[in-house]
Amino acid sequence: MVQGLAPARKPVAAEAAAPASPASTSSIPFRVGHGYDIHRLQPGGKLVLGGVVVSEQLTAVAHSDGDVVIHALVDALLGAMGWGDIGELFPDTDPRWKGADSRLFLREVCDRLRAARQRVINADITILAEKPKLAPFRSQMLLELRALLGPECLLNIKAASNEGCDAVGRGEAVAAHVVVLLAAEA
Ligand code: MG
Repeated sequence: MVQGLAPARKPVAAEAAAPASPASTSSIPFRVGHGYDIHRLQPGGKLVLGGVVVSEQLTAVAHSDGDVVIHALVDALLGAMGWGDIGELFPDTDPRWKGADSRLFLREVCDRLRAARQRVINADITILAEKPKLAPFRSQMLLELRALLGPECLLNIKAASNEGCDAVGRGEAVAAHVVVLLAAEA
Protein backbone atom coordinates (compact mmCIF):
# COMPACT_ATOMS: atom_id res chain seq x y z
CA MET A 1 0.00 0.00 0.00
CA VAL A 2 1.33 3.47 -0.89
CA GLN A 3 2.13 5.41 2.26
CA GLY A 4 -0.31 8.18 3.12
CA LEU A 5 -3.28 6.72 1.23
CA ALA A 6 -6.44 5.86 3.11
CA PRO A 7 -6.83 2.20 4.03
CA ALA A 8 -8.85 0.02 1.69
CA ARG A 9 -12.63 -0.03 2.16
CA LYS A 10 -13.91 -2.73 4.43
CA PRO A 11 -14.91 -5.93 2.63
CA VAL A 12 -18.29 -5.94 0.89
CA ALA A 13 -19.36 -8.96 2.94
CA ALA A 14 -19.04 -6.93 6.14
CA GLU A 15 -21.24 -4.17 4.66
CA ALA A 16 -23.81 -6.69 3.51
CA ALA A 17 -24.04 -8.02 7.05
CA ALA A 18 -24.97 -4.57 8.40
CA PRO A 19 -28.65 -4.28 9.41
CA ALA A 20 -30.92 -2.45 6.93
CA SER A 21 -32.71 -0.62 9.75
CA PRO A 22 -31.70 0.71 13.13
CA ALA A 23 -32.42 -1.59 16.04
CA SER A 24 -35.35 0.57 17.18
CA THR A 25 -37.54 2.42 14.68
CA SER A 26 -40.46 3.24 16.98
CA SER A 27 -39.12 6.73 17.72
CA ILE A 28 -38.90 7.84 14.06
CA PRO A 29 -41.31 10.81 13.83
CA PHE A 30 -41.77 10.90 10.02
CA ARG A 31 -41.32 8.39 7.23
CA VAL A 32 -41.37 8.78 3.44
CA GLY A 33 -42.26 5.93 1.08
CA HIS A 34 -42.32 5.54 -2.68
CA GLY A 35 -44.27 2.96 -4.68
CA TYR A 36 -44.38 2.13 -8.38
CA ASP A 37 -46.44 -0.35 -10.36
CA ILE A 38 -47.16 -1.14 -13.99
CA HIS A 39 -49.53 -3.63 -15.61
CA ARG A 40 -50.04 -4.56 -19.24
CA LEU A 41 -53.48 -3.91 -20.73
CA GLN A 42 -55.62 -6.21 -22.82
CA PRO A 43 -58.98 -5.73 -24.53
CA GLY A 44 -62.21 -6.63 -22.72
CA GLY A 45 -63.14 -6.93 -19.07
CA LYS A 46 -62.86 -3.82 -16.93
CA LEU A 47 -60.02 -1.64 -15.78
CA VAL A 48 -59.93 -0.58 -12.11
CA LEU A 49 -57.78 2.34 -10.95
CA GLY A 50 -57.91 3.76 -7.44
CA GLY A 51 -60.84 1.46 -6.67
CA VAL A 52 -62.91 2.88 -9.56
CA VAL A 53 -63.90 1.17 -12.83
CA VAL A 54 -62.48 3.52 -15.47
CA SER A 55 -63.05 1.39 -18.57
CA GLU A 56 -65.19 -1.54 -19.64
CA GLN A 57 -63.18 -2.04 -22.83
CA LEU A 58 -59.81 -2.74 -21.23
CA THR A 59 -58.45 -4.81 -18.38
CA ALA A 60 -55.09 -5.10 -16.62
CA VAL A 61 -53.20 -8.35 -17.00
CA ALA A 62 -52.85 -9.34 -13.34
CA HIS A 63 -53.52 -11.98 -10.70
CA SER A 64 -55.65 -9.56 -8.66
CA ASP A 65 -57.80 -6.82 -10.20
CA GLY A 66 -54.55 -5.15 -11.36
CA ASP A 67 -55.25 -1.76 -9.78
CA VAL A 68 -51.84 -0.10 -10.24
CA VAL A 69 -52.83 2.93 -8.17
CA ILE A 70 -53.60 0.88 -5.08
CA HIS A 71 -50.64 -1.44 -5.67
CA ALA A 72 -48.24 1.52 -5.85
CA LEU A 73 -49.91 3.13 -2.83
CA VAL A 74 -49.58 -0.07 -0.79
CA ASP A 75 -45.93 -0.36 -1.80
CA ALA A 76 -45.29 3.26 -0.78
CA LEU A 77 -46.83 2.62 2.66
CA LEU A 78 -44.91 -0.62 3.11
CA GLY A 79 -41.72 1.08 1.97
CA ALA A 80 -42.14 3.90 4.47
CA MET A 81 -42.44 1.35 7.25
CA GLY A 82 -39.61 -0.89 6.05
CA TRP A 83 -42.16 -3.70 5.66
CA GLY A 84 -41.02 -5.03 2.29
CA ASP A 85 -43.42 -5.00 -0.65
CA ILE A 86 -46.89 -5.99 -1.79
CA GLY A 87 -45.66 -9.20 -3.41
CA GLU A 88 -44.37 -10.49 -0.07
CA LEU A 89 -47.59 -9.69 1.76
CA PHE A 90 -50.05 -10.74 -0.97
CA PRO A 91 -48.20 -13.15 -3.30
CA ASP A 92 -49.59 -13.52 -6.82
CA THR A 93 -49.19 -17.28 -6.40
CA ASP A 94 -51.84 -17.30 -3.65
CA PRO A 95 -55.25 -18.34 -5.01
CA ARG A 96 -56.93 -16.17 -2.34
CA TRP A 97 -55.86 -13.06 -4.30
CA LYS A 98 -57.01 -14.25 -7.73
CA GLY A 99 -59.21 -11.48 -9.11
CA ALA A 100 -59.09 -9.81 -5.67
CA ASP A 101 -60.38 -6.29 -5.14
CA SER A 102 -57.11 -4.46 -4.36
CA ARG A 103 -58.88 -2.31 -1.78
CA LEU A 104 -58.54 -5.39 0.46
CA PHE A 105 -54.75 -4.99 0.33
CA LEU A 106 -54.92 -1.31 1.20
CA ARG A 107 -57.39 -1.94 4.03
CA GLU A 108 -55.09 -4.59 5.52
CA VAL A 109 -52.04 -2.31 5.36
CA CYS A 110 -54.01 0.61 6.84
CA ASP A 111 -55.05 -1.65 9.73
CA ARG A 112 -51.39 -2.55 10.31
CA LEU A 113 -50.42 1.13 10.22
CA ARG A 114 -53.04 1.99 12.81
CA ALA A 115 -51.78 -0.86 15.01
CA ALA A 116 -48.26 0.58 14.63
CA ARG A 117 -49.63 4.05 15.55
CA GLN A 118 -48.78 5.59 12.20
CA ARG A 119 -50.87 8.23 10.44
CA VAL A 120 -50.79 8.87 6.69
CA ILE A 121 -50.19 12.61 6.39
CA ASN A 122 -50.39 12.76 2.60
CA ALA A 123 -50.18 10.68 -0.53
CA ASP A 124 -49.20 12.11 -3.90
CA ILE A 125 -50.28 9.84 -6.75
CA THR A 126 -49.25 10.06 -10.40
CA ILE A 127 -51.05 7.79 -12.87
CA LEU A 128 -49.56 7.27 -16.33
CA ALA A 129 -52.10 6.13 -18.91
CA GLU A 130 -52.63 6.88 -22.57
CA LYS A 131 -56.20 5.69 -22.35
CA PRO A 132 -58.79 6.03 -21.04
CA LYS A 133 -58.82 9.71 -20.06
CA LEU A 134 -58.92 9.73 -16.27
CA ALA A 135 -60.00 13.27 -15.38
CA PRO A 136 -63.71 12.28 -15.13
CA PHE A 137 -62.85 9.61 -12.52
CA ARG A 138 -60.48 11.61 -10.35
CA SER A 139 -62.98 12.78 -7.71
CA GLN A 140 -64.43 9.27 -7.32
CA MET A 141 -60.92 7.84 -6.89
CA LEU A 142 -60.21 10.44 -4.19
CA LEU A 143 -63.41 9.40 -2.38
CA GLU A 144 -62.54 5.69 -2.58
CA LEU A 145 -59.00 6.17 -1.32
CA ARG A 146 -59.95 8.62 1.40
CA ALA A 147 -62.48 6.09 2.70
CA LEU A 148 -59.56 3.74 3.35
CA LEU A 149 -56.79 6.16 4.33
CA GLY A 150 -58.98 8.32 6.55
CA PRO A 151 -60.57 11.74 6.09
CA GLU A 152 -57.56 13.57 7.55
CA CYS A 153 -55.20 12.31 4.83
CA LEU A 154 -54.28 14.88 2.17
CA LEU A 155 -54.58 13.15 -1.18
CA ASN A 156 -53.56 14.29 -4.62
CA ILE A 157 -54.06 12.46 -7.91
CA LYS A 158 -52.33 13.55 -11.09
CA ALA A 159 -53.03 11.78 -14.36
CA ALA A 160 -50.74 12.06 -17.36
CA SER A 161 -50.19 10.37 -20.68
CA ASN A 162 -46.67 9.21 -21.42
CA GLU A 163 -46.43 11.48 -24.48
CA GLY A 164 -46.50 8.48 -26.80
CA CYS A 165 -43.35 6.99 -25.26
CA ASP A 166 -42.86 3.29 -24.46
CA ALA A 167 -45.58 0.74 -23.67
CA VAL A 168 -47.65 3.21 -21.61
CA GLY A 169 -47.56 5.76 -24.41
CA ARG A 170 -48.67 3.12 -26.93
CA GLY A 171 -51.66 2.30 -24.71
CA GLU A 172 -50.31 -1.17 -23.94
CA ALA A 173 -49.84 -0.60 -20.19
CA VAL A 174 -50.84 1.60 -17.29
CA ALA A 175 -48.51 2.67 -14.47
CA ALA A 176 -48.56 4.63 -11.22
CA HIS A 177 -46.07 6.29 -8.88
CA VAL A 178 -46.99 7.17 -5.29
CA VAL A 179 -45.13 9.07 -2.60
CA VAL A 180 -46.44 9.05 0.98
CA LEU A 181 -45.54 10.71 4.25
CA LEU A 182 -46.35 9.00 7.53
CA ALA A 183 -46.18 10.47 11.02
CA ALA A 184 -45.95 8.59 14.30
CA GLU A 185 -48.94 9.28 16.55
CA ALA A 186 -48.00 10.96 19.83
MG1 MG B 1 -49.42 -4.71 -9.43
